[in-house]
Amino acid sequence: MTEIEEYIPIVGEPVIEDLRLLARRLKGKVVQHINSAAVGGGVAEILTRMVPLLNALGIESRWDVIKGGKQFFEVTKKIHNALHGQYEELNHYDFEVFMETSRKNIKDIDTYGDIVFVHDPQPIALITKKADNKWIWRCHVDVSHSYKSIWDFLKGYLINYDSAVFSAPGFSRMLPIRQFLISPSIDPLSDKNKELPQEIIDSVLNKYGIPKDKPIITQISRFDRLKDPLGVIEAYLQVKKTCDCRLILAGGMAEDDPEGVEVFNEVKHKAKRNKDIHILLLPQNDLEVNALQRASSVIIQKSTREGFGLTVAEGLWKAKPVVASNVGGISLQIKHKYSGLLCHSIKGASFAIKQLLDNPGYAKKLGENGREHVKNNFLITRHLRDYMLLFLSLYHPEDIVHLG
Ligand code: UDP
Repeated sequence: MTEIEEYIPIVGEPVIEDLRLLARRLKGKVVQHINSAAVGGGVAEILTRMVPLLNALGIESRWDVIKGGKQFFEVTKKIHNALHGQYEELNHYDFEVFMETSRKNIKDIDTYGDIVFVHDPQPIALITKKADNKWIWRCHVDVSHSYKSIWDFLKGYLINYDSAVFSAPGFSRMLPIRQFLISPSIDPLSDKNKELPQEIIDSVLNKYGIPKDKPIITQISRFDRLKDPLGVIEAYLQVKKTCDCRLILAGGMAEDDPEGVEVFNEVKHKAKRNKDIHILLLPQNDLEVNALQRASSVIIQKSTREGFGLTVAEGLWKAKPVVASNVGGISLQIKHKYSGLLCHSIKGASFAIKQLLDNPGYAKKLGENGREHVKNNFLITRHLRDYMLLFLSLYHPEDIVHLG
């Protein structure tokens, strides 16, 4: 288990002392996180590190996962897409499926926490169980272009929470409850992000049969249309006309995303038998993701919508030049031409990748700036501080709490 002291060499003693101080004020409170998937996707990624670290600080924290069948997750994927502004038809039957599974979870899940911290729409209806404990709804989605009918449906539950948390200022909505803006984070000491010896990086490339003969461009993502894997292949093929390189498109499946297999097959089909395109269906293995990111000359994240995009922060932390779409939370992380390159189209992505491959010095500088930006803004120590201030604010409803 990681000790909180291990972060001192990265962020400095005063930051850790602040965390200890805040944690003492919360002693005795039990924080219960609830989401819909124990593995796969950014929420599980964060909770895997956040929960043990809160415990290490002396705040009892636990993590429960709701249960749902295929139909439920098909409906919640539609809700997810509609919140991201992508048209989805939800009919009366879909809502009934959502309500039915929600009723089962309301019955089965014990909401014992002093603070119940509910992530994303799937478990939102649990609020029906609210007693005299505190409830937070944490939205990881970019809801700035949501379909009104879906947002209004969720809002019916949301207004009963004590507070809501969004990742970026542009995502906040008119609500009668308190809202907090807290961006996600990565853990620099996790297997996903820690330094790796070259032998491990090489052994992962060997395992997947990827030679080191040319620069590697990589996108790590669940196989989801909103990550635009087909667009990544298009962009790569354009780069490849003038610049010899390889593409890795690697990802796994999230438990709560039923579309993964279909998208994976579309991607395989599009890549045909191109020997320089490596489509990898990864097991849940953080060291392998870390190694693939470190083996890359350029990291790409060509999402069409993105709540935050942890993969961007992961690439930047490894001082890699990142090309990413200017959507959602990505713009918090990449300042164009300073900590990476933003793009708006397939053509723009291929142009940016070429520019980086042709100018290694410029690519290196962007990567270094990116690492510094992540260090200052998107490490888990900042996230822990913000969450603890949020928890304290629940017990001080009249005070204004500034989250720095
Ligand atoms: N990830 C992983 N294995 C995969 C695909 C993704 O470990 O095969 C991780 C990725 O490194 C990142 C998280 O899952 O930490 C995805 O978070 P992000 O915010 O990028 O996207 P989301 O999946 O939440 O939409």
